[in-house]
Amino acid sequence: MAGGKLQAPRGTFDVLPADAQRRDRLVELSAQVLEGAGYGRTETPVFEDTALFARGVGESTDIVQKEMFTFEDKGGRSLTLRPENTAGICRAYIEHGMHKLPQPVKLWSWGPFFRHEAPQAGRYRQFTQLDAEALGSDDPSLDAELIVLLAQILERSGVKARLLLSSLGNAETRAEYGEELHAHLRAHESELSDEVRARIDTNPLRAFDSDHPGTRAAMAEAPRLIDRLDAEDTVHFAEVRALLEEAGCAYELDHTLVRGLDYYTRTVFEFASDDLGAQSGVGGGGRYDGLVEKLGGPPTPGVGWAAGVERILLASQATTEGSAGTRAYVVVAKADERLRAFGLVNSLRAAGVTAEMEQAGRSFKGQMKQADRVGATHVVIVGDSLEVKDMHTGEQREVASLEDAVEAVGR
Ligand code: AMP
Repeated sequence: MAGGKLQAPRGTFDVLPADAQRRDRLVELSAQVLEGAGYGRTETPVFEDTALFARGVGESTDIVQKEMFTFEDKGGRSLTLRPENTAGICRAYIEHGMHKLPQPVKLWSWGPFFRHEAPQAGRYRQFTQLDAEALGSDDPSLDAELIVLLAQILERSGVKARLLLSSLGNAETRAEYGEELHAHLRAHESELSDEVRARIDTNPLRAFDSDHPGTRAAMAEAPRLIDRLDAEDTVHFAEVRALLEEAGCAYELDHTLVRGLDYYTRTVFEFASDDLGAQSGVGGGGRYDGLVEKLGGPPTPGVGWAAGVERILLASQATTEGSAGTRAYVVVAKADERLRAFGLVNSLRAAGVTAEMEQAGRSFKGQMKQADRVGATHVVIVGDSLEVKDMHTGEQREVASLEDAVEAVGR
């Protein structure tokens, strides 16, 4: 591509200031909601040992088989750009001995994730997720709490989404059910899509995800995992539901809900927005009681979710509010007053006022126009005299000193 036009890589995008404001507000809102419920923010690396995802997410999943950005570093180690967060959080929980802390350990984070998917609206190769996880207890109130917190974040972001809910039971139930489902799929083999048929042995549950008409017809008669849950898992699920009802959090049971990762046990859920077309999932998650142990830690239950920042903003019906705080624009009426104007801008900023000054050689008239464009509430004109103009009322008055100007604008 020598001499070709350089562009952002396929499936990626640049965040420009207008978008950045909405993203920042979503992250701030999430921090408020999650920290208010005792979740502490964490950061883990954006790349990890490839083995973490192979073991954690599951060898037979789409993510591990097709979607990982894997590379070798200069020391010959296989590394992977993280495709999801839970495996990394569990690794950190084990590595830092967090099982010795009072349980549950509640963590939240946000950051970039990477999947080699076919890009389309709402589906990117680098995207941003908000995540919340609670490790160290299998109390159903954690499942319900996490769901309610995500519902609150979505609601306060102006996203209308339906909550789909189911339970996958425990590993043994799933293994037994897997055999039953396997037999059903073998019996209907000729009706299935090639892709589903190829995965009858490795990942039969994914047959429920298929859009293929023959597969869908065969799956409509398939045995359901929800009917096979053992007594404990049935009680756990009933409690999660009762807690959601208590919180006034509406849900729809969807027993075909199969999340694309292998580690889920018991509760699974997804928030779907009808405003998004094909990529309707704005966020989802579930319980993963065996994952920490599988990654070499002590037996530790866990539950969590991930929500897509870009999808939330796409589905959001909230109008973007103007930025907070007073905006002052400092007009330099005489070139040799630039130093004083620069000092004034800094004083305004130090006093907590959003302030800008002329920095592109505009005429006096051009500067007044620019003040209007940036939405300034006040203009301070620095020339032979010092004047403050209130842009709403149009009133303009002289002030005696820079301190008085800061005072007049900040009020
Ligand atoms: P998942 O881990 O697949 O359940 O994804 C959790 C959330 O992340 C989804 O509900 C989406 O909002 C978001 N997400 C997942 N994959 C992508 C992607 N390729 N592009 C944008 N958002 C994504």
